[in-house]
Amino acid sequence: MFAKIALVGRPNVGKSTLFNRLIRSNRAITHDMPGVTRDRMEGIVRGRNKRPFGIIDTGGITLDGHAAVAEGPAGIRGFEAEILRQAEEAIAECVAVCLVVDGREGLLPFDEHLASYLRRTGKPVLVVVNKVDGIEKEDVLTAEFHILGFPVLAVSAEHGHNLRWLESEMRDLLPEEDEDGIDDDAADATAVAIADADAETEDGASASETEEDITEETVEDEPEAPLRLCMLGRPNAGKSSLVNALTGTNRMIVSDVAGTTRDSVDVAFEKDGLSYTFVDTAGVRRRSRITDTVERYSVNSSLKSTTKAHVTLLVLDAVEGITSQDKRLIELLDERKTPFMVLVNKMDLVPAKAREDGKRNFRDLLNFCQHVPLLFVSAKTGYELRSIVPLAARIRRECSVRIPTGQLNRAMEEVITRHQPPVVRRVRPKFYYMTQAESQPPTFVLFVNDADRIQAPYAKYIEKSLRRLFGIEHAPMRVHFRSSHKKNSEK
Ligand code: GDP
Ligand code: GDP
Repeated sequence: MFAKIALVGRPNVGKSTLFNRLIRSNRAITHDMPGVTRDRMEGIVRGRNKRPFGIIDTGGITLDGHAAVAEGPAGIRGFEAEILRQAEEAIAECVAVCLVVDGREGLLPFDEHLASYLRRTGKPVLVVVNKVDGIEKEDVLTAEFHILGFPVLAVSAEHGHNLRWLESEMRDLLPEEDEDGIDDDAADATAVAIADADAETEDGASASETEEDITEETVEDEPEAPLRLCMLGRPNAGKSSLVNALTGTNRMIVSDVAGTTRDSVDVAFEKDGLSYTFVDTAGVRRRSRITDTVERYSVNSSLKSTTKAHVTLLVLDAVEGITSQDKRLIELLDERKTPFMVLVNKMDLVPAKAREDGKRNFRDLLNFCQHVPLLFVSAKTGYELRSIVPLAARIRRECSVRIPTGQLNRAMEEVITRHQPPVVRRVRPKFYYMTQAESQPPTFVLFVNDADRIQAPYAKYIEKSLRRLFGIEHAPMRVHFRSSHKKNSEK
């Protein structure tokens, strides 16, 4: 028997759609109406060379009308008690739980009830925010779920977005095999998986793959693993030249004709005794054509490459400036909290007199993401190339920063005393406490009496202060404000 993971959640959040996707079949019935009776479903999630595991969809809801959920345990109505009962039953035989929520509806009281129930079980929990149908919405739609205090992952069961990532996160929830009595077959499967960790997932997976499924090969953040870099940018910006110049090899073909480098290549190199890899170096080329659909595809596949890297280097051409496609890509990288830096290449072609003005122009255009390093370089002359790799390594380090809660709260007190939040609608926002909900990138949640009263400039001030105090200069960062009535007793 395989270790099992339960899918738990309100009706209509998409559990059975997710279930079908994960087991790669269409067996469970999905329905628009909450309240359709459904038996509990069990299935097995398999991937080539991956450890199989069971999933249980705790679907069966027998009453309808889940709209009016009363707050507080006393307000739990019959059918909700029924969901809890089913969840309880399933969870008892599961090693971990995915709490499925609906990103479009947002956090509802019953989600919170389920979460606090799950917390008490002591089993590992992953919050799966479903119905995040477009990658650009990920941040907005998942923000409020961090309050639940579990790791959060956005997916779209219907569009197949992030499902591979979900699968791998679910595998990570499984206990060591020796401990849970998994049979020999499963143990063998995992042995193979370890030996061949980079193998493609099984063919059957393609059914659930769409353009938006861009995170299937997300980089793991083992601190010892070599730094993985990814080059993005329009054809002819000088990506191959930069890779050649940085690695000291001439493995890639550099030419004036756009699209010369065809194959997707990983280029490994060593510098000062450390190993690095440029991933997917050639994939960038195909992203250049301008028709509408190709453009959309291109942005998607650019982003896909970034998920394989720790740090992305976006290359611009100093002479050509920033095109709208460059701008769009930068905005997306910023929104998605991708760790990245911008390299303005071919500075040797800019006449000495025009350089300062040129640099200022680039700085102004990228003013909206001030934490992102902007380097002016030349692959041809080697100008400023030395700074690139150390800066990338620093960004990666900053992404995994973890700050103890005590330290955070002392810092917060200082920051707020120095500059009180302005009074909004006759009330001054009051801060209770803050925690770091996640790293990769660092994500901070501040609990206040009324989050609506925190205005953008003050939020910026908080972010800037956190960056300064904790040395997070160039990594992406999230700062969320949550309304809360309680004061943290541990502070
Ligand atoms: P369950 O009651 O939690 O098992 O939910 P279902 O799987 O039956 O899904 C409820 C409804 O949500 C169905 O109409 C699905 O088609 C829809 N749905 C499921 N996943 C997604 C998604 O990723 N995006 C969108 N837009 N709709 C979804
Ligand atoms: P890619 O398409 O982004 O990989 O760009 P390539 O590396 O193939 O470079 C495109 C063209 O720009 C080639 O002719 C390069 O020789 C040239 N190039 C690249 N970097 C520089 C640079 O720093 N200065 C100058 N003058 N030319 C460069």
